[in-house]
Amino acid sequence: MKRKQQNASDRSTQSPQKGSGFAEVRWTTRVLIGWLNESETDARKRVKTIIERSQAALSGGSEELRALDSEITRYRWRDHAAYKAGNRLFIVQTTDQPEFEEAEAFAVRMVLSLAQEGKVGRLKQCELRTPTQSCSAWFYAEQAKQRFCSTPHQQLFNREKPGAKERNRAYQHDYYHHPVNKKGRRTK
Ligand SMILES: [Zn+2]
Repeated sequence: MKRKQQNASDRSTQSPQKGSGFAEVRWTTRVLIGWLNESETDARKRVKTIIERSQAALSGGSEELRALDSEITRYRWRDHAAYKAGNRLFIVQTTDQPEFEEAEAFAVRMVLSLAQEGKVGRLKQCELRTPTQSCSAWFYAEQAKQRFCSTPHQQLFNREKPGAKERNRAYQHDYYHHPVNKKGRRTK
């Protein structure tokens, strides 16, 4: 009995529950993001097109679906017995077409499985555009409304967006010249 309890607590420390409701990004998605952010090649262009077409298919009609379909049929997918682990066999879909490298086929499969799970809209490019810096890095948005690849880029955008300095100056002026009274309201 005691031993059982011990085991249960071991398990819970090995796989901690990360804040319920907070999507954990899978390692395969991380690999996909890393690959997308490497230097531009024809393979990456094709995968980016598939991401765009998947997202367009979600908001469009049968025409957009066909456009996506024509992008993915060229891989001529086939099942491939890849490896075994314990009592499980891992059958993955791969391409027989020699012009597509393995990494591209893997990336396309990841995009398509995100599409099937309703998560392809979470693949985004950072929207940071300021007079001094811009970023278009790919990232997986853990929150649907996330627009930047990282917290520093979110903060940089907020600090440098047009009017931010003026608003901040006005706030500072207001703060020093009209101190907050005891009720938490500004004095006139
Ligand atoms: Zn960024």
